Amino acid sequence: MSSITNILVTDDEPATLKTLSAALEDMGYRVTTAANGREALALIKKQPRNVVIADIKLPDISGLEILEAAKELNPETAVIMITGHASIETAVNAINEGAYAYILKPVAMNELDTIIRNALREQRLLIENRELVESLQQSNRRLEEANRALEQVSQAKSDFMAKMSHELRTPLNSIIGFSEVLLSKLSSIDHKTHNEFLNYIHVSARHLLHLINSILDLSKIESGKMTFEPSEFDLAVMLEGVKITVLPMLATKGQTLETEIGEGISSIFADEAKMRQIFLNLISNAHKFTRTRGKIRVICRLETPHLLHCSVIDNGIGISPQDQLRIFEEFGQVKTSPNARGQGAGLGLSIAKRLVELHGGKIWVVSEVGHGSTFTFSIPLAKKGGA
Ligand code: ADP
Repeated sequence: MSSITNILVTDDEPATLKTLSAALEDMGYRVTTAANGREALALIKKQPRNVVIADIKLPDISGLEILEAAKELNPETAVIMITGHASIETAVNAINEGAYAYILKPVAMNELDTIIRNALREQRLLIENRELVESLQQSNRRLEEANRALEQVSQAKSDFMAKMSHELRTPLNSIIGFSEVLLSKLSSIDHKTHNEFLNYIHVSARHLLHLINSILDLSKIESGKMTFEPSEFDLAVMLEGVKITVLPMLATKGQTLETEIGEGISSIFADEAKMRQIFLNLISNAHKFTRTRGKIRVICRLETPHLLHCSVIDNGIGISPQDQLRIFEEFGQVKTSPNARGQGAGLGLSIAKRLVELHGGKIWVVSEVGHGSTFTFSIPLAKKGGA
């Protein structure tokens, strides 16, 4: 320890300075000497010391000034004042100002050694203490951050529950309301209205089922139960299957669907079922938010040999820039869009986003109100996507 202990000794009596520094060096300390106060100040400023031993009565600068400067640069520096009997009062003052101890002239080396040892021990304890406090403060900060994150998660969960209850209640209320009218012996409704009400019940029940299935999907993803299960499959064949599934739905609005697969893509290595789900969600949105006889296109191409980009493009109602910020959130339906309410669960895009993320990919939208939307997702391919 003493080998890294830097001691600065300052005294205007050359003989005292010499004796002191020689004795301290013998004790194993690294000693620097200063013949006057100014020199001592300059040396302290250059390099902080563990211990400063200063004569309290230097001709140019008082020992108290040295004490102040040393403490300012390093509050843990132990300053030991050397004093004659005549200056004991000043030395006591120095202790009050932060000096570690004072020692009377002529200096008894064994006494000085004990003082230095005690000062160094105290210094170590102080440093350890400070490090402990700092690490405690750091742990506290980390704990606070974790707490804040936890609060945010819990708030997000509560928001989700509130929105989910609201979304479930709407179709349920409709089912209850219309079935009550149908069951009421007092109501005298004609056959056409009867069928209309039954249709409302049917649509609401299907919507409810879709909602519950989506929530189950989402909670499966959230809990980590939905795993990434890649396999090699033909993208064109998969897209053809998607087309066959969605064509009856598109036919209800006279919409067309074109698919285009870029060169070099045949079999790819990805999770087929999840990719199918992503396409179904995006195409069913394109269908919902595009007018009758609108055009929907699916384009897939290799951005790089290992990065697949797929876009679902429509010429529908489009999405405003501020709505684009929240549509990927759960229940992020756009209240202002005419087709938004009552048609979807508001979970399609958040599910698609998570499925893309399960692949290690990204999803984004480029859209202009009145001119349509392009939803694109990128997926890194584990194996070369070429033929
Ligand atoms: P929803 O079940 O309502 O379709 P989504 O999460 O799939 O829920 O979509 C969220 C919202 O994003 C929709 O309600 C709609 O306002 C908007 N949106 C999604 N896709 C499109 C699109 N192709 N064109 C216009 N708006 C869209």
